[in-house]
Amino acid sequence: MPFSDVIGQEHIIKLLKNSLKCGRIAHACLFVGPDGIGKTMVAKTLAQALNCKREDEDACGSCPACRRIENFSHPDVTWVRPTGLSRQVGIDDIRRLRRQISLKPYQGRMKVYLITEADRMTAQASNALLKTLEEPPANSILILLTSHPASLLPTIISRCQMMRFSPLNLGRIEDYLVKKLNLSFPKARLLSRLSEGRLGKALSLQEKAVWEEREKILNLACQISVQDDLEKLLKVAAEIVELVSNFKQELEERLKDELREVEDVISKEQLGEMRKERIAFLAGESRRKVGEILDLMIGYYRDLLVLKEGGEAINLDRKEEMEVRAVSISSQGIRKIIKAIEETKGFIERNVNLRLALETMTMKIAEELEYARGS
Ligand SMILES: [Zn+2]
Repeated sequence: MPFSDVIGQEHIIKLLKNSLKCGRIAHACLFVGPDGIGKTMVAKTLAQALNCKREDEDACGSCPACRRIENFSHPDVTWVRPTGLSRQVGIDDIRRLRRQISLKPYQGRMKVYLITEADRMTAQASNALLKTLEEPPANSILILLTSHPASLLPTIISRCQMMRFSPLNLGRIEDYLVKKLNLSFPKARLLSRLSEGRLGKALSLQEKAVWEEREKILNLACQISVQDDLEKLLKVAAEIVELVSNFKQELEERLKDELREVEDVISKEQLGEMRKERIAFLAGESRRKVGEILDLMIGYYRDLLVLKEGGEAINLDRKEEMEVRAVSISSQGIRKIIKAIEETKGFIERNVNLRLALETMTMKIAEELEYARGS
């Protein structure tokens, strides 16, 4: 996709086009921004522009080189992704990169190496990459993509040209959804508000499973109310635990299959190592899932606060029921609820018992609701 078709990120595209025009593109770029914001798309276009038949500041998007890069099948454009059960970019991946990057391009003008979740590089891998960054080979460029720049070695960051991707204007996302995907205005408006300015997120919310889970979590947030008996609160916590354990189980099945495939060809030690990695990975992913669920709940209570103050909610489809609810709670009460959920997120990051933390959280929320009613 040519730069001219990319929506948003104008300042980054302007900079890249200018560098392409002068033939002075940095040897290493670092694209920073949350998932779904367009890092991969822009990185791919840059790889295309560097190898396109057109030899201009933008890719044509249709020549053989552009098409191959689009389909991830160009021999000079290599994507390095985290692999293995702990999803890391390991030393072997970077060693391979270092061996290949110094060779001449096969078909194109430039070899392009893209590390998709650069923050998942191991310490060893990061140090090995540093050597390449210190002596960048000619006719090659490295593009590091990350949503967690703080997890990268400072020495890596300082050797890259950093570009921060910014959220899109919601109106533009809405416009895109209506014009390109033929969504109705209300649906496009809702998705654009939920997207936080990330087109990729707006598109993922269109998937049925993602949407249904959102519904379920918001329903759970609504279920916690003043008159709650303990049993009902425990049930809300239990349902969140169930969502997380279903997620974990599905992931575990997938990982087991991966393990089965390699079981016979690796040593016992390696297998033991991989099992350990798997446990750590599952725990990490489960915590991330809980974080996502709690973020949705926080979003719901933030909306209540915003509505009380006359602003516009994000969860537009729930506006009516939220307005009714907002009346019965004080702003201070809502802030305390948000704080309680944020604290719970922190506890879970620190590995406390999930069920216990969630039960405590639902009880705190109910308590705040009760207190706010009385005041
Ligand atoms: Zn082209």
